[in-house]
This record gives sequence, C-alpha cells and structure tokens, in this order.
Amino acid sequence: MVDAQLRARGIEDRRVLTAMEKVPRHLFVDEVLAEQAYNDNPLPIDRQQTISQPYIVALMSEAMELTGKEKVLEIGSGSGYQTAILAELAERVFSIERIAALATRARKNLDSLCYYNVAIRVGDGTYGWREESPFAAIMVTAGSPQIPKLLIEQLEIGGRLVIPVGDRSSQALLKLTRLSENPNDLKQEGLGGCRFVDLIGEHGWDNS
Ligand code: SAH
Repeated sequence: MVDAQLRARGIEDRRVLTAMEKVPRHLFVDEVLAEQAYNDNPLPIDRQQTISQPYIVALMSEAMELTGKEKVLEIGSGSGYQTAILAELAERVFSIERIAALATRARKNLDSLCYYNVAIRVGDGTYGWREESPFAAIMVTAGSPQIPKLLIEQLEIGGRLVIPVGDRSSQALLKLTRLSENPNDLKQEGLGGCRFVDLIGEHGWDNS
C-alpha cells in the first residue's frame, strides 16, 4: 500500500509514510472487509459512513505539515483510522464525531492500540472545539458546502485547515492557511477532486 499507492503518487513526508506503515488499517474495518483494508479505495464502515482511501488519508495528513509537537483537531472520527494516523504525527489530537456509536467504536480501536493522546467527543464538529483552540492544524473528513468560519477562527496564525468543499456529490480538497488575525486572510491551495460523505451540522449540510 505505502509503495504502490502513496510513494508512487508523490507522498513524500517521511513521517506520514512511516505512520501509514505502522497503523494496522484492517483493525478499523469490519472483520469481513479486513482482507480489503489495504486496497486502493474507501470502504464502508457503519451507519453509511466510509473510511477514506489510503491515498486521501496520506494526502490530507501531509497537508497538515506536522512535526510531532502540535495540537490538532479532526472533524469526523468515523472508524478512528485517520485519528490514529494523526496521533502518530502530532502531540495531541482532538476529534469530534456526530454519531455516538462510531465515536465509541473509534475510542475502542484507539485504546486497543494505546493511542492515549487522543480525546474524542460526540457532537457537531462544525462548531469546532473552542475550549481547546487554537490548533496548529484542523482536518475535516466529511464534505462541506462552505469553508466553516468558526474553524478558521480556531486556527493559530500560520495554521492549516484541510477540508473537502463543494456539493454533495463531489468536492475540491482544499488546504487553507491562516495568514493573520483576520480570519478572511487565507492562502488557498487545491489538492484535487474528491468525494466524501456529507458534513452534517449547523455550518454544514442539513440532515435531510
Ligand atoms: N476519518 C474517518 C472518515 C469517516 S467518514 C475515517 O478514517 O474512518 C466522515 C465522518 O464524519 C462520519 O463518521 C460522519 O458521521 C462524521 N460527521 C459528519 N458530519 C459531522 C459533524 N458535523 N461533526 C462531527 N462528525 C461529523
């Protein structure tokens, strides 16, 4: 997976490649799908949600530009796989999941692998996690209709927000860097097209 899907497509961050070699992805999917866990595609998890394709996990993780000392936020814990990768790359990870059953399973998976530098909370991640802000980087692993301003406000100056933005069927994967106190002062880079499940919440899509 790491050679054929990640290195071959230009993922260069050594820490990201090492983390993806280390974290056992098959433990984050149902047993019946374990054999497919390292394939080049997303897979269903519970509640009509998905664990992202390995390449997308690597691309988003690389865009976070982590060195190991950071406090980061993830919106959409899902299976907890991306959370585990972030736990390898940052000092502390805060992750929000709106579906309680998924949050519980993600917590169990992370505990079984001894990722104790992760806090998971059930709720609407479009509000961010204000008490723990500012963050060096924020990753949203569900598709958003817009760039959530509250999340930009919870970034450090120089901090990165990695988020898929677009309509419900396809999005552009964006990397936004906060340049100053003014939350509208952003550098925007496109990382390519993608298709994520909906970000559902006050500053995302309606749940209908
Ligand atoms: N990173 C996950 C991907 C999960 S899919 C993984 O590696 O498995 C996206 C997740 O975002 C789903 O679990 C969905 O329930 C969650 N989600 C959607 N809207 C949300 C919101 N407003 N706040 C928190 N989680 C949300």
